[in-house]
Amino acid sequence: MGLTAAERLCLDLAWQAFGAGSVPVGAVVLCESGTVVSSGRSRMYETRAPTPEIANSILAHAEVNALVKLDPRRRYEHHTLVTTLEPCPLCAGALAMSTIGRLTFLGADPYGGAVGRLANTAHTARVPVQVSGPRRDAVGTLASCCTWPITCSATRAVPWSASTRSTARTSSRRGALSSSKAPGTRRVTRCCAPPCSTVC
Ligand SMILES: [Zn+2]
Repeated sequence: MGLTAAERLCLDLAWQAFGAGSVPVGAVVLCESGTVVSSGRSRMYETRAPTPEIANSILAHAEVNALVKLDPRRRYEHHTLVTTLEPCPLCAGALAMSTIGRLTFLGADPYGGAVGRLANTAHTARVPVQVSGPRRDAVGTLASCCTWPITCSATRAVPWSASTRSTARTSSRRGALSSSKAPGTRRVTRCCAPPCSTVC
């Protein structure tokens, strides 16, 4: 698969988030030499988080929890944010505000991805961001599709519940995580764009 150590760590964090009942997304920040200087995962549906990460909030995204640990007194043009999923508007904004100069993500997010809007203000455009992603292989497909029970549901009556996870795990054996039978989620009629459409 050709995964870097950082990408493997992100996937591990996403798996931890999934196991804890949150959205399966993980993220790390690398310094210029490639050393992990910060990490975070989604904690949206958890009640506790290690300081200064946030939990039990719609804002408790993996990228935010990785970026919130960075020193606000310095700049990070030569650092890289690595994440399993294309950043949403919240995380793309957090990336730009953190002055991170590079972004690597594994899976596309056709529903909530906001990489194309990284520099839509003079403030956020002050540090150009080099973007790498999504991967066009099975890893990119998995990273993209494993979140769409949540990101592609227009309405969601219940949190990412144990029964939902059970359904997703069963579906994952077929090559992708599916929400079509997941309790509490609307049947997905708007499927992901390629490469996800090959397996969704
Ligand atoms: Zn986000």
